[in-house]
Amino acid sequence: MTDSQYWNPLLETLPREKLKQLQLKKFQRIFTWAYDHSKFHRRLYDDAGICPGDIHSLADIRNIPKVEKSMMRDIQNKDPFPYGDGLCVPLEEVSVFRQTSGTTGQPVYQPDTWQDWEWWSECWSFILWAQGYRPKDRVFLPFGYNIFVAFWAGHYAAEKLGCEVVPGGVLDTQARILKIQELKATAMMATPTYILRMAEVAKHKMGIHPASLSIDKITCAGEPGAGIPATKKRMEEAFGAKVYDHSGATEIGAWSYECSHQPLGMHVNEAMFLVEIEDVETGEIIEEAGKQGKMVITALDRMAQPCIRFDSKDVIEWDKNPCTCGRSFRVIRGGVIGRADDITKVKGVLLSPAAIEEVVRSIDGLGDEYEVVVDRPGDVDRIVLKVELLTGVSKSEIEGQLRDQLRLKTNLGYAIEFLGYGSLPRYKLKAKRFKDLRKKHSFHREEGV
Ligand SMILES: [Zn+2]
Repeated sequence: MTDSQYWNPLLETLPREKLKQLQLKKFQRIFTWAYDHSKFHRRLYDDAGICPGDIHSLADIRNIPKVEKSMMRDIQNKDPFPYGDGLCVPLEEVSVFRQTSGTTGQPVYQPDTWQDWEWWSECWSFILWAQGYRPKDRVFLPFGYNIFVAFWAGHYAAEKLGCEVVPGGVLDTQARILKIQELKATAMMATPTYILRMAEVAKHKMGIHPASLSIDKITCAGEPGAGIPATKKRMEEAFGAKVYDHSGATEIGAWSYECSHQPLGMHVNEAMFLVEIEDVETGEIIEEAGKQGKMVITALDRMAQPCIRFDSKDVIEWDKNPCTCGRSFRVIRGGVIGRADDITKVKGVLLSPAAIEEVVRSIDGLGDEYEVVVDRPGDVDRIVLKVELLTGVSKSEIEGQLRDQLRLKTNLGYAIEFLGYGSLPRYKLKAKRFKDLRKKHSFHREEGV
C-alpha cells in the first residue's frame, strides 16, 4: 500500500457522478438517523415540514434547515447533561469529550463514540497520506493534549499509518525544539502561528537554524495561514520543509486537506463530507468556481452528535481546475479564505484580515507579527496596522512599498505604526491579531483543527 499516493484509492478517484450518488445515499442515512434518534433534530425538521422521505436528490437537501452554532449552545441546557438532546446515542456509548474554546461565546461540548473516534482518525489518515506521511516518519506533535480536539486525531491517524508518534505535550517551546533535534523528527503538526513562533525561538533564543532540523513536512491547522502564500513561504523557508494546509473543526470533523501537489488550495474529502457554498447575500447555493460564499457542511458518517447542514461561517470558493494529483475531490481555492464574522465592512469596503496578512508577510524587513485594530474615533472608521521592523531595517526603506501593497490588495488606507522587533504579543496557539473595536466582541476562529 505504501506505493499508492492515495490513502483510499477507490474513494479518492471515484468518478464525480458516483461520488454524488454516494453523498446522497450517505446523506439520507445520516438524516434519517438524526431524525429518528435526536429530539433536537426531529423538532427542527418537523417545524420546517421536512422528513427523511422528502430527500430524493442533492437539490432536495437545500430545503433542510441549517444548524447554527447558537442552537448547539442552546440544546446543552437540556438533558442528557452535558450535551443536550442533539445526542443520538445512549450516554454510556460516548467515549470522549471535546469542546470548542468558546472564544465566540459559551463553548460547544462535543460527544463522540468509539466509532466516531475511529472515523476521526480515518479522516485524518486521508490528510496525512496525501501530504506524504509514511510509516518511516517520526512525527512530533507540539500541542497541549487537552479538552480541545486540536491535533488529537492527527496523532491517532499518524499511528494508524504506521508512523512513530512523539507526543510533545507539556514541554515548552525550547524543550520541544531540542526533542525534535535529538530524535531527528521528520514531520510535525501545529498552527501557523506556532510554527513561526518555534522558528523564531530556535533562531533568536537558541541559535539553532530551524532548517538544520530534520523536519521535511509540516501540517498546519487551526488558522488560515498555510493557505496564505506569503505566510506559507515564510514557514517553508524557515524549516526547509513542505508546509501543508488542513482545516477542520470540533463540531464538524477533519473535512479538508492540501495534497502533495500543493494546488494552492485544499481538497474537500467529499466521500466523508458534503460541502455546500452559500451566497451570503442571496442564500443561493453557489455551484460555479471563483465565487466566494460561506460553507454549509454535513459530516456524512458522524453518529453521536450529527453535523447536518452546519453553518460554519468559513468563507470558501471552488477552484475551477481539478488538481493534478488525480483525486476527484474538488479543491477550494486558497483554502479557508476567512470567517464570515471576520470579513467586515470598513469605510464601506469589505476587509478580510487574510489580505492584510498576505501583504505584511510578503515584505522583507517586516517581522511575522502584526496587529490590526479597527475603530471609529469620530464618525469615520480608522484602521490601525501595527508591524514590527526587523533589526537593522529602517522605516523609510519599506513604508512606501507597504502602503502601496495595502492599497492595491485591500483598497483601503491605514494608520501604520512601526514598532521594534519583539514588541507585539506572541501567541502560542491561535493568534488574536484582528480587533474590531466597533463591535462588542472581536471574532476569530474557534479552537479546532
Ligand atoms: Zn491534489
